Amino acid sequence: MKMLIGGAWTDASSGRTMKVVNPATWDEIGSVPLGGPEDAGAAVEAAEHALAAWSEVPALERGRALAQTAALVRGESERLAALLVAEQGKPLREATDEVRGFAHILEYYAGLASSLHGETMAAKAYGRIVIEKRPLGVCVGIVPWNMPVLIAGWKIGPALVAGNTLVLKPASTTPLTTLEIGKLFVRAGLPPGVLNIVTGPGESLGEALVTHAAVRKVSFTGERETGRHVAEAAAPTMKHLTLELGGSDPAIICDDADLEKAAAGVVGARFYNCGQVCTAIKRAYVFSSVADRFKALVAEKTEKITVGGGMEAGVGMGPLNNAGGYERMQQIVDDLRGEARFLAGGETTDKKGWFFAPMVVTDLPSDALPLREEVFGPILPVIEVSDLDEAIDRANSTQYGLGASIWTRNLERAGRGCRDLEAGIVWVNQHLKIPPEAPFGGTKGSGIGRENGPKVLDRYTEEKSILIRS
Ligand code: NAD
Repeated sequence: MKMLIGGAWTDASSGRTMKVVNPATWDEIGSVPLGGPEDAGAAVEAAEHALAAWSEVPALERGRALAQTAALVRGESERLAALLVAEQGKPLREATDEVRGFAHILEYYAGLASSLHGETMAAKAYGRIVIEKRPLGVCVGIVPWNMPVLIAGWKIGPALVAGNTLVLKPASTTPLTTLEIGKLFVRAGLPPGVLNIVTGPGESLGEALVTHAAVRKVSFTGERETGRHVAEAAAPTMKHLTLELGGSDPAIICDDADLEKAAAGVVGARFYNCGQVCTAIKRAYVFSSVADRFKALVAEKTEKITVGGGMEAGVGMGPLNNAGGYERMQQIVDDLRGEARFLAGGETTDKKGWFFAPMVVTDLPSDALPLREEVFGPILPVIEVSDLDEAIDRANSTQYGLGASIWTRNLERAGRGCRDLEAGIVWVNQHLKIPPEAPFGGTKGSGIGRENGPKVLDRYTEEKSILIRS
């Protein structure tokens, strides 16, 4: 497949390509251009060229372009979901949800178009004050491989409806579905250069986009360390930044919770997408008085998950997406073998593909890595706590602050969790649901800024004050 630059499907200027493999089989399933700094420059130039005309298109018409693409995506969701399974590894059911979720995001932003308006006020001393909302200009969206389609929607939707143009860079292991969706934007009649999709390594192509002087905003989703680097690289040219980084979401299970529902919810929110979700539950803190029962339920439900290729019937969990993630996971499991107790999983498989069985561990040392850092894979640590104070202290003890949940039937405890858990999003008796209506993003080391929600267009526009005296 080729990149989309200025409405044309192009090769990398170097002529080089990179392979995309299926993580369940290691088979090569396609290749894309290996873009570099020259291609970044060409894409930004195309986006600059398209900017003036696109920013003058009425917002409702820009919204209509998104809605028309959403309809095409819905019409082709089966084909797109199968391609997403092939490059990402997730089960077909999850891939289908993600593709339809992408269409839903575009529809949400099409609806927000009508909220884009300025203000006017009479002010005797100055005459009239007019506040216009202007697009920022050329934006860059950088996307990770775990939810490549959904997160692309979080960047395309608000940027375009607010009148900006965009250069989007998917992750190197998951560019194919995004490029196919690019074809649907073209088919829906989006003018050339409004959306450009470039493929290539983060360190060269991504870096060139982030440092480009003509780019006014970078919306980056990825690891914390990459995010820190992106912030530094973007600083000299004063760009607007949204950083959606990693998470180590805690879940607190109180002794009054419906344990059956809590165990099902926690297992679902840990092993979805093979544990590779920024807001997956990465630590479960359970009150000691119900810990034995909760652990037994969690272990039982985890062992029932069928692991396999995402297109196989009945599969609940696919492989990890890439070799780097597999090696990191292997190291974590090896380290934990000597210091923790496995309630489920833990055996190695010699199956082809980056597969792990889902794991539940307990009795970890308090400084074990999964209790401090984000672990992007299928392992759930369960930790006993004596009460809610201890649970909240330990839940807040990492550098992250993306999501958190509390499982209880007690309103007072739920309220305490909502108030004191340090997170951008807190769920009560659920986890992982991320509707476009809810602002999404982290506090502390999980990032800055928010995506989605009714006010997100403020992050893709700039106010211009005009004072008029006659
Ligand atoms: P990553 O940081 O390795 O890569 C993310 C993207 O950045 C990729 O497209 C990559 O090519 C690009 N990139 C890498 N180096 C770059 C550079 N120097 N300049 C510009 N771009 C560069 O992350 P990943 O491994 O793809 O994704 C997993 C991480 O993403 C996890 O930490 C996860 O929690 C996080 N994540 C966060 C959210 C959120 O909304 N908060 C959502 C999903 C994933």
